[in-house]
Amino acid sequence: HLGNETAKAELGRATWTYLHTMMARYPENPTEEQQEALRSFIYLFARLYPCGECAVHFQKHLSKYPPQVSSRNAAAGWACFLHNEVNSMLHKPQFDCSKIGDFYDCGCEGEPDGETE
Ligand code: FAD
Repeated sequence: HLGNETAKAELGRATWTYLHTMMARYPENPTEEQQEALRSFIYLFARLYPCGECAVHFQKHLSKYPPQVSSRNAAAGWACFLHNEVNSMLHKPQFDCSKIGDFYDCGCEGEPDGETE
């Protein structure tokens, strides 16, 4: 079916930047509550993502690969892997997830981690 592919791609880029930057700031040693917050966020994100076709695809990926929320490394690696799954589906190149460490910068050095009380 016909859609606005430029708008869909723009939304995708903005969203991936947000998602990966959020993971780069997720605590290294999250509390149970913080882990539950990220898990809930991901399921709600998958449900509310504005491109409906993308949301359906993403929910399928999610049921196969549940969110990894035990640490920053686990969460960032999981998001990178899921993005690569979407890349494969769209015939885009794979990203080397071992290089994700410093790639996403929130511009907020000196502040506490992304999760607040
Ligand atoms: P993007 O895939 O948007 O990536 C942006 C940048 O992120 C890349 O240039 C690269 O620097 C970096 N990057 C690439 N791979 C990774 C990775 N694995 N980990 C970390 N960083 C990486 N589009 C559709 O047409 N159909 C869909 O079903 C669909 N589903 C989507 C589901 C979700 C949850 C999201 C967020 C987007 C979805 N999109 C979908 C949009 C699609 O993924 C792209 O965002 C869009 O096509 C633009 O692609 P791009 O080539 O600019 O790079």
